[in-house]
Amino acid sequence: MLTSKPVCVTGASGFIAAHIVRELLARGYRVRGTVRNNPKSYPFLLSLPGATERLELIEADLLSSGAYDRAVEGCEYVMHTASPYQLNVKNPQRDLVDPAVNGTENVLESCLKAGGVKRVIFTSSIAAITDEAESNKVFTEKDWNTMSSLERNPYHYSKTLAEREAWDFIMRKRPSFDLVTINPFMVIGPSLGPSLNTSNQMIRDIMTGVYPCTMDLNWGFVDVRDVATAHILAMEKPEASGRYLCSAESLHLKDIVAILKSSGFGNYPLPKIDLSSKAGSLLMMALSYTQPRDTGTYIRNNIGRTMRYDNTKIRRELKMTFMEIKPSILESVADMQKWGHLPLPKQPKSCSSSCCCQS
Ligand code: NDP
Repeated sequence: MLTSKPVCVTGASGFIAAHIVRELLARGYRVRGTVRNNPKSYPFLLSLPGATERLELIEADLLSSGAYDRAVEGCEYVMHTASPYQLNVKNPQRDLVDPAVNGTENVLESCLKAGGVKRVIFTSSIAAITDEAESNKVFTEKDWNTMSSLERNPYHYSKTLAEREAWDFIMRKRPSFDLVTINPFMVIGPSLGPSLNTSNQMIRDIMTGVYPCTMDLNWGFVDVRDVATAHILAMEKPEASGRYLCSAESLHLKDIVAILKSSGFGNYPLPKIDLSSKAGSLLMMALSYTQPRDTGTYIRNNIGRTMRYDNTKIRRELKMTFMEIKPSILESVADMQKWGHLPLPKQPKSCSSSCCCQS
């Protein structure tokens, strides 16, 4: 074990952070997690194996200056994962950018004040690398998203500004700690807590008729347990440095629908019409204007293009191996059913004597 001091995990109640907490406890670490509400309201964290002896939860909000002083005090390693992950918000500056950017600055300031911090592992995102696929380009850690704004993909914008703030902080203040960022693509898998994460919600949307058709969109996917492992490897390996693009494999929307169909979920209202052709993409471009603003922008910037990225750095330097994504999708489905996020599909009514097909 690297440290006998507590490892601080901000936003411990989150989908990814809860898995980081679980894995840190499983490896024998002491953990200090920050949450937004009374710690007693997180029984799913407090009942993790090892939690009674080694997990402490304390309240902190990203927007309150000094809020993380107590959380990072006496810690050598800090995992900063807390940040709003929502699309289609009312006020992007207030709801996304301010908590992401000011929160990052607050956490880093607290680390600076605490004195003994050696490394901050920051949960960034593919969103800080790009918000659009470019079919002829392979994205790497060298790329930065320069396109997003408050009007265009504001979630991506908030993640880009927050990661930039973190690197600028290191340049400006030259603290005794270094910074390593994990930049995951779409994170899926089972949730330890009752909330439905925005990325798993996409699978639920595919299964509940929100997408009437498949279209030529694709994403990189990574299982949440692998993302947690990546954070811990980034902490444990002294040679880890810089950014790590974290994604296992890419799938098209059509592939996901095919996996669901072939795995016995054909009774859900999966998309029936296939608009993955060139003509379909043109139609979807037009239809994207009928979608909520941020979803529409995302469709227009990505439809008909293939997202290519290189995950060599994380595999080589952190020795990451990734789980296959198909089982991960199916576990996400089972998990959403377990938590009540995914209602069972309506069964066709059995025929009665008055049914029209009897006549
Ligand atoms: P969640 O929404 O599950 O977790 C977000 C966490 O941030 C929650 O603990 C939330 O607290 C906390 N948070 C939000 N706003 C505040 C605030 N004002 N003050 C304190 N805490 C706050 O999302 P994920 O677990 O998916 O995301 C974790 C991180 O990973 C984020 O930085 C996200 O951008 C990044 N990421 C996620 C990806 C994904 O596909 N899921 C992909 C790439 C990056 P509360 O529970 O109280 O709301």
